[in-house]
Amino acid sequence: MPDFNDYAVARRRMVQEQIAARGIRDPRLLQVMQEIPRHLFVDEALMSQAYNDHPLSIGEGQTISQPYMVALMTDALGLTGREKVLEIGTGSGYQTAILARLCDWVYSVERILELSRRAQRVLEKIKIFNVNLVVGDGSKGWPAEAPYDAIIVTAGGPSLPRPLLEQLAEGGRLVVPVGGRSLQTLYRVTRRGNQYVEEDLGGCRFVDLVGEYGW
Ligand code: SAH
Repeated sequence: MPDFNDYAVARRRMVQEQIAARGIRDPRLLQVMQEIPRHLFVDEALMSQAYNDHPLSIGEGQTISQPYMVALMTDALGLTGREKVLEIGTGSGYQTAILARLCDWVYSVERILELSRRAQRVLEKIKIFNVNLVVGDGSKGWPAEAPYDAIIVTAGGPSLPRPLLEQLAEGGRLVVPVGGRSLQTLYRVTRRGNQYVEEDLGGCRFVDLVGEYGW
């Protein structure tokens, strides 16, 4: 197994060659991606691939997103450090960790109990405590703590989940893949009063958002 230094080197290369080279400039985001040990969020057998330019299996038919996709979506949220963020699809907890280091508090919803438990253990291990992990159908959002300054959905559904739009704060940003089962478009939706401004951030591929407002 590669040692700690090998992972730090792999991580630096990941940030330079996959993230910065593709146009992500936010120094806070680059710094956090340089620091969070992504290999701890995957099974031991896959650790040596954790900094490669693609998603990886995390069991239960789910995946940890490609590093660049994590960077692109996080960048689109425009976090400054003060925000309350809602994440749908905790999965491995890697995206959760990145968010937690860039905002005030993260609520993260996962439908598969085992994944949520595993993510909780890794987040504790790396001493990230400004998160609440909950188990349930995140396509309905998490109304108890709404409104949110930013919402990120890391699974794809057929349409924009209406509850998520309603749970956005004024000026809040929702980053979400929407489309068919094998290919989606990544959207950023910004709330301006009762208006929702949509921007197309490009094509993407996510696992299914399964639930009342998903598949
Ligand atoms: N950000 C995660 C992505 C995991 S894949 C990571 O990088 O590790 C997407 C996750 O969304 C899966 O774990 C899946 O179980 C979860 N998911 C799918 N539909 C959901 C729903 N309705 N509510 C909550 N989680 C959901």
